[in-house]
Amino acid sequence: MLAPIKFCAHCSQPVRQGVPVGDDRLRHICDACGAIHYQNPKVIAGCIPVYGERILLCRRAIEPRLGFWTLPAGFMELGETLAQAARREAQEEAQVEVELESLYTLFSLPHISQVYAFFLARMAEAKFAAGAESLEVRLFHEREIPWDELAFETVRRSLTLFFADRQRGQFIFREEDMEPDRSRFRPGQPA
Ligand code: ZN
Repeated sequence: MLAPIKFCAHCSQPVRQGVPVGDDRLRHICDACGAIHYQNPKVIAGCIPVYGERILLCRRAIEPRLGFWTLPAGFMELGETLAQAARREAQEEAQVEVELESLYTLFSLPHISQVYAFFLARMAEAKFAAGAESLEVRLFHEREIPWDELAFETVRRSLTLFFADRQRGQFIFREEDMEPDRSRFRPGQPA
């Protein structure tokens, strides 16, 4: 599970893999300066931007999943809150100002050490454009959602829950685990 590290970020000497005293997991250890290079999951923050009956999706201009549709989302930066990250990603990828309403879905993907969090969000106006990481940004009615061209299973699951909840008239927060077989790409789609 450890991402490869060859050299210590503090003193540039080679690191080795080992279990530090008092620990029970494999870490990268620098014997030269004593640094232990911990690796922890990454958090991806995003939102479902809603404008009237429609929701906003972005078509990815970057790998992975170039050309596929996604909700605006991305890795949290140091020093920002989850909500700030979600708003920033909406601004960067779709050039849209969103008002976050509530946290809606939270997914743990232990096989790739990622946590995804999506907020429900409101767009005050239909003002948006493709940011640097998007080829195209547009509003979709439920019947127009490109289900076969969604970039990630977390996006598919969030949208599925969203439309089901909207039908029932009640939005409920969900925290779920996502296994490798559920996030695997379906046959016929580019990997
Ligand atoms: Zn070192």
